[in-house]
Amino acid sequence: MVVPASLRPRALRLIRLLSRPGFHLFLTGLLMVLGFVLAHRLSERSGREQLSALSTERLELYASNLAAELGRHASLPSLLAIAPTLQALMQAPDDAAARRAASQMLARVNVRAGTHQLFVADAQGQVLSASEVLTPPARLAEALAQGRTHFFAADPNTGSTDFYLLHPLRQASQNSGVIVVRFNLAPLEATWIDLGLRSQNERILIADDQDVVIMSSVQAWKYAVLGHADPSRRQALQASARYPQAIGPDLDLPVSLEVHQGQQVSLPPPGAKAMLAQQRLIVPLGLRLVALSDLTEVRQRAQLAAWGGAAFGASIGLLVLYLSSRRRALRQLTRAQTELQQAHAQLEQLVDSRTAELRQTNDALKTQIAQRLQTEGELLQASKLAVLGQMSAGLSHEVNQPLTALRALARNSMRLLESGRQDAVATNLKLMDDMVERMGQITRQLKSFARKADEQVTGVVLLLDSVRNAQVLLEHRSRALGIAIEVDVPAGLRVRAEANRLEQVLVNLFGNAIDAMQNEAERRLLVRVSAQDGGARALVQVQDSGAGVGDEQLPHLFEPFFTTKPAGEGLGLGLVISAKIVNEFGGSLRARRLEHGMSFEFDLAVEAWESQDV
Ligand code: ADP
Repeated sequence: MVVPASLRPRALRLIRLLSRPGFHLFLTGLLMVLGFVLAHRLSERSGREQLSALSTERLELYASNLAAELGRHASLPSLLAIAPTLQALMQAPDDAAARRAASQMLARVNVRAGTHQLFVADAQGQVLSASEVLTPPARLAEALAQGRTHFFAADPNTGSTDFYLLHPLRQASQNSGVIVVRFNLAPLEATWIDLGLRSQNERILIADDQDVVIMSSVQAWKYAVLGHADPSRRQALQASARYPQAIGPDLDLPVSLEVHQGQQVSLPPPGAKAMLAQQRLIVPLGLRLVALSDLTEVRQRAQLAAWGGAAFGASIGLLVLYLSSRRRALRQLTRAQTELQQAHAQLEQLVDSRTAELRQTNDALKTQIAQRLQTEGELLQASKLAVLGQMSAGLSHEVNQPLTALRALARNSMRLLESGRQDAVATNLKLMDDMVERMGQITRQLKSFARKADEQVTGVVLLLDSVRNAQVLLEHRSRALGIAIEVDVPAGLRVRAEANRLEQVLVNLFGNAIDAMQNEAERRLLVRVSAQDGGARALVQVQDSGAGVGDEQLPHLFEPFFTTKPAGEGLGLGLVISAKIVNEFGGSLRARRLEHGMSFEFDLAVEAWESQDV
């Protein structure tokens, strides 16, 4: 459907309103009320129709019953009229014998026909002859005057309704008398009362042309006036002598019954109830047969149906509510899914970009590491050269001394040879050999120190040898400063290390210690070893009695280029390189302050504490 642009906001508002839960609840309520009202109306209407149809049937039955009862004797007066006895009476009305004969005949017929009374009256309503001794009804004179063929009158004694049939007796084509058949309707009424008692739901009444109830299944309604009778009318009715007793109270049934069929009326109290009134006119008799059916059951059924309708309406409303909230939930779910997918896609994108960044950083780091490694290698070499430079002065002194001694010994030996003192020459040669050996030792150390160590070489080293070698390399300095060196290292201790690099570490530490003790009065260097991890590792401690370092310097010792030495003397690389080498051996280098001086300590894996080839 295409909604014009101008209507769109309004349509949207309407759609939003319709999809609100509050609206659905309102709709459910509305459907409930509608269901209630509709079901009530329909059920009540159909109930009324059924009741009305039933009541109409009954009315027909009652009417035909009454007609049959009354019609049973319709021909009796006309038959009697032609009876010779009554003809004779008409000819001599004052003849006592004729009257007696007529009375006897009437009494016989009365018994046979099952009527209540039969009598013959003259034109003025005076009884001439009768089936029994009787007083003619008060209405007779009036009926004769009006030329009626029948009338109803109340029995003054019992109050029951009598039906009178009249037939004229003619004498020389003149109305000289009338035959009257009195038929009592009490038995018929009794069956109605019986029926009425048995059926609580139905009442029946017969009203005459004056709207006075003359027969009824409800005893209390007898001679009540339908509708409302004003006092003058009541008086007139009373005076009419048609009704025996006082006229009953108003029976507040609408007189308009004549017009409406199946009309709802309310019964007067006690037992006030809503009833459905149906009537049937019995025109020849001037009577109205009214049936009143109780509407309570119909109403109860309508009430039930109404609640059913309300429940149905509510279920439809709730179903709509359920469907709409389900649709809304589905819509929300779909929206949430879409949002989730979007978030997922964004996250993936973010991860991708971050991964790319990381890869870049990683590459950059790799390059930096490679560069650093290269620089480190170069620095290592440079530091060695620096150490070598430092050592060169001492070395020349070390080498010069034996060389001078060698020269002196050689000259001395030559003179001894000339004088034939072989034994003294031999002693000199021994001394010379020792000196050469010592020089060789120094040069070996230098050679091995200057060489760039192989990366992966990790052999087994006799620790004491390395200590001694380092000691030799720095001997010129230690001796010059008069440093007391104490070495407490087990002779047979073998550690896992590479001799060159281990010596480099020791030379570094010894050198630093000698530097630190330069200006101290007490100059003592201690190298000792203790067992760790149950002998699996050896802790090497290089302790001096030097100046030590301050609190603020201690954390920076292992930083590259950290030095306290004057320019040209220190590079600040010795400890960094040493720590790295120890690391490669699987140990770690630490610095600790002593009361006087410093202790540099590192651990190494032990191959053996004792060895034979020492
Ligand atoms: P360098 O010896 O070239 O300065 P090192 O890394 O070997 O570089 O030493 C760094 C600094 O650590 C030294 O400058 C010194 O201040 C301090 N240091 C090292 N060993 C000792 C020690 N045994 N006693 C006191 N200070 C020391």
